[in-house]
Formats: sequence, structure tokens, C-alpha cells
Amino acid sequence: MYTGSCLCGTVSFNFDGEIRRFHHCHCRTCRKAHATVYGSSALVDETKFQILSGEESISQYESSPGKIRYFCKNCGTHVFARCDRDANCVILRLGALDGDLGIKAIGHIWVSHKPDWYEITDDLPQSPEW
Ligand SMILES: [Zn+2]
Ligand SMILES: [Zn+2]
Repeated sequence: MYTGSCLCGTVSFNFDGEIRRFHHCHCRTCRKAHATVYGSSALVDETKFQILSGEESISQYESSPGKIRYFCKNCGTHVFARCDRDANCVILRLGALDGDLGIKAIGHIWVSHKPDWYEITDDLPQSPEW
């Protein structure tokens, strides 16, 4: 069981499943949405995902067709996302999780969008796009 929350604590959620794989995404939209150099996320089964509090404080933004990003209206934390392409899944934003995962990312994606002020120094696989 994983739990997560936004910065102000209004929105909280849990995921009662296993996170087996995740990646670091360097695309321009993740960079802007998280306001950081890359976003780390995991695609998980939505039936095991539950909003525990703050549902009325969640705002949404369609960053590309069919891709909806959900934020806390109060503090701006990007808490999770959904994508039409994976309709039965939720994309957890791992920075919103409380606690450790015990696994490492499977790689870096959209490295072609990475800005020159950040250098990847691990040896995980890198993909220019998806
Ligand atoms: Zn918040
Ligand atoms: Zn991305």
C-alpha cells in the first residue's frame, strides 16, 4: 500500500497495488507541469487507486489531447494524471508519494527534450522519445 499527498495536505490518495516499473520523463510538458527538470511516474491500475481526501480541491488540465493532469487547486502539486490511451490506468506522480519505493526507474524517456543545464549521471537506459 502506497500513500501520497499534495504539498498542503488537502489532497491525499492511496494505491493498494504493486509499483513494478516507473520512468523519468524529460518531455517539455512534464518539465513545465512539475516545474522541475523531469517528472517521475508510474502507470498503475485505477481500480486500486483511491482519493482519500480533497477531491473537491482537485483541478485538471489537458496538457495534450487525451492527457489530463490533476493538480491541487490550493498548493499546485501535480498529484496524478490520466491518459485516454491507457483508459483503465492512473499515472501516479511519484514525487507526491510519501515514503520509499524500493525499486529503481527502468529508464529515462523523452531525453531529446532535456535542457542542457541538466546532465543524466546514472546508467539507466535513455530513449530520445517514448
Ligand atoms: Zn495541496
Ligand atoms: Zn513527460
